[in-house]
Amino acid sequence: MRTIPFPGGDAMPALGLGTWKSAPGEVGAAVREAVRIGYRHIDCASIYGNEREIGTALAAAIADGDVTRAELWITSKLWCDRHAKKHVAPALKQTLEDLQLDYLDLYLVHWPIALKKGKLMPERAKDLIPLEKLPLAETWQGMEAAQQAGLTRQIGVSNLSVKKLRALCETATVRPSMNQVELHPYLAQLELLSTCSELGVGLTAYSPLGSQDRPEALRVEGERNLLADPLVIEIAEGIGATPAQVLLAWALQRGTAVIPKSVNPGRLAENLAAAELTLGPMDRQRLGALDAHRRYVTGDFWAVSGGPYTLANLWDE
Ligand code: NAP
Repeated sequence: MRTIPFPGGDAMPALGLGTWKSAPGEVGAAVREAVRIGYRHIDCASIYGNEREIGTALAAAIADGDVTRAELWITSKLWCDRHAKKHVAPALKQTLEDLQLDYLDLYLVHWPIALKKGKLMPERAKDLIPLEKLPLAETWQGMEAAQQAGLTRQIGVSNLSVKKLRALCETATVRPSMNQVELHPYLAQLELLSTCSELGVGLTAYSPLGSQDRPEALRVEGERNLLADPLVIEIAEGIGATPAQVLLAWALQRGTAVIPKSVNPGRLAENLAAAELTLGPMDRQRLGALDAHRRYVTGDFWAVSGGPYTLANLWDE
């Protein structure tokens, strides 16, 4: 499988397993099966509420001799209520305990949003802290210290716009080595792709299949389903692949990593096999025409009435 190169020689397998919404009681079996069939990259986050079960599955995979720790690439993410510099390392240590690991391969700042400690999501404006009061640059110092302490090999960000990424790179001692954002043919983000390439920051594509299982509150009536897009289906049929495989191959051929979520053994195998698929230039060009700047994860849950965050200042659009 193709890998994404990192500073210092680390290499992340370009196709990984997403775990958001992978339910307790299901996620452990999914991770165990994924590792058994060859996944080596697992994307986690403390807010997903399932790191303990993932940790048990990883420990079993290692104990059974399916994989060694060194062969795995484990990513996790700092939640928004731990953005104060002093809270970063303790949050990372909790994740390590839950995942039964000594170190992470990659730790990301999950969102450019600060919440009061103990808040999982904002219910009212006072649950949020403006970035002017708790800047990303301060959170980043905590991330750099955690890396220095050996708690994680690489550090990065998630959901950062071109503007925020450039600003962070200007103040950072250690540049973020990854930005994980929503990317698929309806949201190709060409400016972010070229900026990351210029800055030497990797990109990971989240919700690459259109996140059809996301919570009802995040769904929009009549939204377009990527997996049911006529062009995606036509291309899939033309090359004897599935629509999901076309979407994953599209992401990989753009040089990004991609982290489809599944808890279904058949779909886990189907998605992994996409790493071996090649799309022709015509098919890639036709998929490029689907770009509609359409987000599935809009971030509107941060835009609490009277609060410091709006969709405009979140995405800088
Ligand atoms: P996704 O991977 O685009 O879609 C997941 C949905 O697709 C599930 O309903 C899954 O069902 C289904 N699916 C999986 N493989 C399929 C296939 N081959 N054919 C048809 N359906 C298939 O959505 P996502 O979970 O939003 O994104 C992926 C990962 O990105 C997350 O799990 C998380 O790790 C990460 N993420 C990060 C952020 C962030 O803020 N950094 C935000 C969103 C997501 P089954 O499970 O039943 O197969």
